[in-house]
Amino acid sequence: MSSILVVGSVALDTVETPFARVEEVLGGAASYFSTAASLYSPVNLVAVVGTDFPQEYLEFFRSRAINLSGLQVRQGRTFRWVGRYHLDMNVRDTLDTQLGVYADFHAVIPPEYRDSALLFLANIQPDLQREVLDAMPQVRLSVLDSMDLWINTARSQLTEVMRRVDIMLMSEEELRLYTGCASVVAGARQLFSLGLKYVIVKQGSYGALLFGHDGSYFSAPAYPLEEVVDPTGAGDAFAGGLLGYLSTVEPGPDGRYRWEDLKRAVVHGNILGSFVCEDFSIRRLQRLTLAEVAARYQELVTCSHFDPNWLPPRSAATAPAG
Ligand code: AMP
Repeated sequence: MSSILVVGSVALDTVETPFARVEEVLGGAASYFSTAASLYSPVNLVAVVGTDFPQEYLEFFRSRAINLSGLQVRQGRTFRWVGRYHLDMNVRDTLDTQLGVYADFHAVIPPEYRDSALLFLANIQPDLQREVLDAMPQVRLSVLDSMDLWINTARSQLTEVMRRVDIMLMSEEELRLYTGCASVVAGARQLFSLGLKYVIVKQGSYGALLFGHDGSYFSAPAYPLEEVVDPTGAGDAFAGGLLGYLSTVEPGPDGRYRWEDLKRAVVHGNILGSFVCEDFSIRRLQRLTLAEVAARYQELVTCSHFDPNWLPPRSAATAPAG
């Protein structure tokens, strides 16, 4: 088991779906990530909250394997985000973002965090992600996430971070926005020119695609959820499942994770992403067990496996159709 360092937002979210609304509940990319990943391994959290941050949420983090030595509590307001979902819950509008204490935050990495093997740069200002990357040159694997806001307002800073990490996570829309490519495959190829080893394209309720710089490719199925209560944090819980799983396996002799492990990791990502959608905030993750993750893993194997031995009938193999 290796520990995982995460830097990202810890927030108070107000979320509206076509069916319900919650106000100022625990949110933020790093909150979702830490809750998901701590099912697998200890998580070292780097973030900031204001003095208005509810004590009960700090107590929740403390009740998990989430180290809070790198969580600063500063005079001022906690990061706040307000979002509204459409009936197609793959689509949402950000109504308000208030950085609060993140506006002038600089990460301080506690010495006990330095031996974290895996690093997740969750969604936050790219300059802050870079500072943490600078402070952790020895990590075994670095994974980066971002969002449309930073692609639009801090593109060059984001690109600088992308050049220095191993894996980039992007939603399909973010990939199009960043690359200008209509095709996901062409977009992923463009990202490899920055030096990334893998690109993972998140497709919301349709699953995720894993691309390797050597042309390797894997399509991970989504779990068919009947009722989506709130998709907020699905991308961050996805990352929590991905890095959480990888923290439980060793890389190969060349220091790289094995392709089969990367595939399993993406499936864990989809599973954690599916669970988080079943309730608001981190509520479903709070009561989630690895036994439930394992059951969903088997269901996905069953529903996505198909016969690899099909061949065209002899006559059809030689004659062109039509
Ligand atoms: P996801 O649904 O995976 O994209 O993550 C949603 C979470 O990201 C919410 O809990 C928000 O608090 C957080 N978030 C929204 N906008 C930002 C931002 N600009 N920077 C950092 N975190 C954000």
